[in-house]
Amino acid sequence: MDRFTKSFIRQEPIPEEAIEAATRVLRSGALHRYGADPSEVAALEVAFAAQTGAAHALAVASGGYAMGCALRALGVGSGDAVLTNAFTLAPVPGAIAAVGARPVLVEVTEDLVLDLADLEAKAGQARVLMLSHMRGHIVDMPALMAICDAHGIAVVEDCAHTMGAAWDGHPSGRWGKIGCYSCQTYKHVNAGEGGLIVTDDADLAARMILLSGSYMLYARNGTAPGEDVFARHKGLMPNVSGRMDELRAAILRPQIRDLPQQVARWNALYRALEDGFGGAPGLRTIPRPQAEAYVGSSIQLLVDDARAVPDFVAGCAARGVEWKWFGGDRPVGFTSAHRHWDYVAPHDLPRTDAILCRLIDLRVPLTFDADDCALIARIVTEEAAQHLG
Ligand SMILES: *Cc1c(COP(=O)(O)O)cnc(C)c1O
Repeated sequence: MDRFTKSFIRQEPIPEEAIEAATRVLRSGALHRYGADPSEVAALEVAFAAQTGAAHALAVASGGYAMGCALRALGVGSGDAVLTNAFTLAPVPGAIAAVGARPVLVEVTEDLVLDLADLEAKAGQARVLMLSHMRGHIVDMPALMAICDAHGIAVVEDCAHTMGAAWDGHPSGRWGKIGCYSCQTYKHVNAGEGGLIVTDDADLAARMILLSGSYMLYARNGTAPGEDVFARHKGLMPNVSGRMDELRAAILRPQIRDLPQQVARWNALYRALEDGFGGAPGLRTIPRPQAEAYVGSSIQLLVDDARAVPDFVAGCAARGVEWKWFGGDRPVGFTSAHRHWDYVAPHDLPRTDAILCRLIDLRVPLTFDADDCALIARIVTEEAAQHLG
């Protein structure tokens, strides 16, 4: 029997150009963003703001930090309710809980996006939505924004899986008030750790720059609003240090520039897998709406019969194909399910639970090629015929 032997977590090397830039930073000794002149971090902020069409960008220590910073800037604090997806990764409810707020979980649909009917039903409970584009699936954004605007809900977008994606040609992260991205190794650019924030709102930008720890040097942010804006917030924002350093910005700049080419490579692999899984019995792929320009850095399937999942996943794993299952009793690796978040009040989420117990997920690293996708598809189809047919 065929076996797949490549690693699902193996990354491509960092581009040579980025290594050279990082070496220059190391030789200079100027690793702190506000000590470097010119600053790699400031240049990264200029580039990312331009790429997303945002007025302001801020580079920070992680995607989780970005979300927490966004919530603080919006004035979310102790005891406040924040709406968020019931299907997302632990850093999302974690960022909400870390500012003392209370996640209110909203059901997701079989298409893995927020259930807009449940959002509408819960809209009165909070004034902020942390919208997670989990695994790169983007909800109908005009419909979501209409609900949130009608209820005066500020939207923060968690774009950890949608950096480079868009809905109706408008970038993910640019629909709500604030967009948050992760530059962690397993997302779309690789700095080890890191985060980016974008917004058009000058006051929110100033608040987040001050929050992230700018000392008196906030004007050196690459896209800083004017002194008059900072004057409104100076002294009112607690310093919660979470800056990005020069080394990581140096590594990221060429990667951000080359993101569109990487997205095209991811999507070619994704489509090869999606086509390859098409003939497998007992499985279905997640439909991708016409308006959604996604980044296929992972692929999800729904198994028709939840009871068959463990044997099917074990059969694939024995042949080197590592599905993550969101229905397990315990979180494994990067999987995460709401009932494992013991710091969040338990929620009754029958629709989400009925989906998670059938949901499996495969990472699509760029170290794979078309032959790898064909082999994975063959193994999955054979195991499906055996366990799900
Ligand atoms: C990775 C991830 C984040 C945050 O990432 P960090 O590891 O804190 O950079 C946020 N949301 C989702 C859905 C993620 O997968």
